[in-house]
Amino acid sequence: MKSLWNDADAATWKGELGLRVYSSRLLGRDRSLVLHGGGNTSVKLRETNLAGEEEDVLYVKGSGQDLESIEEAGFAPVRMTHLLKLARRESLTDSQMVNELLTHLTRAGAPAPSVETILHALLPHRYVDHTHADAVLAVTNTDHGEARVRRIYGSRVVVIPYVMPGFDLARLCAARFPREAREDTIGMVLMNHGVFSFGATARESYERMIELVDAAERHLATRNAWSLPSHAAGEPLAPPPTEIAALRRELSAAAGCPLVLRTEADSRALAFARRADLRELALRGPVTPDHVLRTKRVPMIGRDVAAYAREYREYFAEHVPGSREPKTMLDPAPRVVLDPQLGLCTAGRSAREAAVVADIYRHTMDVIERAALTGGYRALAPREIFEVEYWDLEQAKLRRAGRPPPLAGEVALVTGAASGIGKACVAALVARGAAVVGMDIDPAIESCRDREDFLGLRCDVTHGEEVGSALRAAVARFGGIDMLILNAGVFPGGARIGQLGLDEWRRVMAVNLDANFALMREAYPLLRLAPGSGRVVVIGSKNVPAPGPGAAAYSASKAALTQLARVAALEWGAEGIRVNVLHPNAVFDTGAWTEEVLRARAANYGVTVDEYKHGNVLGTEIRSRDVAELAAEMCGPLFSRTTGAQLPVDGGNERVI
Ligand code: ZN
Repeated sequence: MKSLWNDADAATWKGELGLRVYSSRLLGRDRSLVLHGGGNTSVKLRETNLAGEEEDVLYVKGSGQDLESIEEAGFAPVRMTHLLKLARRESLTDSQMVNELLTHLTRAGAPAPSVETILHALLPHRYVDHTHADAVLAVTNTDHGEARVRRIYGSRVVVIPYVMPGFDLARLCAARFPREAREDTIGMVLMNHGVFSFGATARESYERMIELVDAAERHLATRNAWSLPSHAAGEPLAPPPTEIAALRRELSAAAGCPLVLRTEADSRALAFARRADLRELALRGPVTPDHVLRTKRVPMIGRDVAAYAREYREYFAEHVPGSREPKTMLDPAPRVVLDPQLGLCTAGRSAREAAVVADIYRHTMDVIERAALTGGYRALAPREIFEVEYWDLEQAKLRRAGRPPPLAGEVALVTGAASGIGKACVAALVARGAAVVGMDIDPAIESCRDREDFLGLRCDVTHGEEVGSALRAAVARFGGIDMLILNAGVFPGGARIGQLGLDEWRRVMAVNLDANFALMREAYPLLRLAPGSGRVVVIGSKNVPAPGPGAAAYSASKAALTQLARVAALEWGAEGIRVNVLHPNAVFDTGAWTEEVLRARAANYGVTVDEYKHGNVLGTEIRSRDVAELAAEMCGPLFSRTTGAQLPVDGGNERVI
């Protein structure tokens, strides 16, 4: 491991807090040091307050901040004198500690200080850095881990046995550190937890962290346990998407709410999931307390969700009697699934959460395999894991997160998603918490949104094989399809029946009707496995109830599509799948409305283009967004008792009313 410190970059940061931000970000850039909000850093500064008094202030990472992107405002300024007084107490409950930290900030509106704040305050150094480095965990989490740590570092670190993070850990460090620190001590190793470094400057503390982690990496390398052998997993299998969707449905049922399920079946994941000693290794527990709440206590091996939930309930019942406060059981669904066919699957309330869990578990696999190669992997005892999983502070964090958005954990597929109504539907669904797959014939769809909750797939909806592989990709990424928004369609320029060629007629039917029929048929096995019931929203047209001259193919295709939707509503209703149709009219901010088409339509009605645009009862403009919001709403609870309905979005049309 190499230092990333660069004097020229560092010079662009102002002051000691600026350098604290700079070196925190250097740590955050390396995923083998810091993962998704893990780790924390601090600096002690002397400041003059408004009363003209000098005081020492500890700037410590705020909770919920990510070191990779932290700003100065992400550090919470806490008065040092009070922290040191607190540290002299015999005990402090979690809620007392949180209250004291929050009431001794020097800036209103600062984020809540890290739960490790008192520990940072007690270390007699200006800068303090803390990570859960993979390499250090691969050394501490083994048989004879402590002896190994002492051999590697000698007096360069003070070794702290495992104690749950919080006040008790701070007290233990406060007692041990002054006794055991020597001239050359530059850090602390916390067994089964991570590593601290410190120094007089940002650079010194950061580079000591690198030095300590590098020593662990070298130790592992000399035992051929750093670079893991390349993984030959054998035959990659492509299980049918319905198997993944069925697993997701069961997980969601156990969790009591829809979960996104991400599947990674690369050779690394498959090789780990197929290890002969997988149970022996993976069921021992997580590599550091920081991961417990996101990965759950242990992964599920195979797909027996009921058995996992039963064991989870037993684990809860077994450990709850000894706990300090009354506890309510978390949902008993696993968040990590290891399966010899599926590889690594991770579940979350959002696509982002599932991706974070996958990232954490990939590092977990590395730590476990390295530890297994050296001294055998050892995790915390079940009781200790329980204390972290049911830690009041962590639970309070979950409670503060509040109500999830209405479509959280659900997956939608939108066709024609690169522009117009389809693009607006993607935005409306994402805003309601859904993970969205956008399909479009335009390759721009693949790069239009760089977010975990969106997957853009180039796909010609009239091409059966392309649709099949798009559905497989969608299910691998999110675990199923719960909502289908059938929006892709063509609107040809006006031609009266006498001039309408058969090829043109067939082309319109192929896109507007046949492709939607095929997609509904292919998606049906997935829709029926949707954890919160399947939904289909068809983007029809005002032309269905009120056709216009010169649009025979278009009107007929949308009328047939509407009839198809009504039959689907009848056939699928018993399985809870709702199918509804929207009939928009005169939505002019879509790709279909070229100037040429607009002029032709206006001419058909004998009006100007402007009159045509506002030609509805309300005299209002109808935007893509208006249609999309209604489509998304139709997937939500408001329409949970509605199927087979046709709703106009047209500003009121005299011929329809
Ligand atoms: Zn930690």
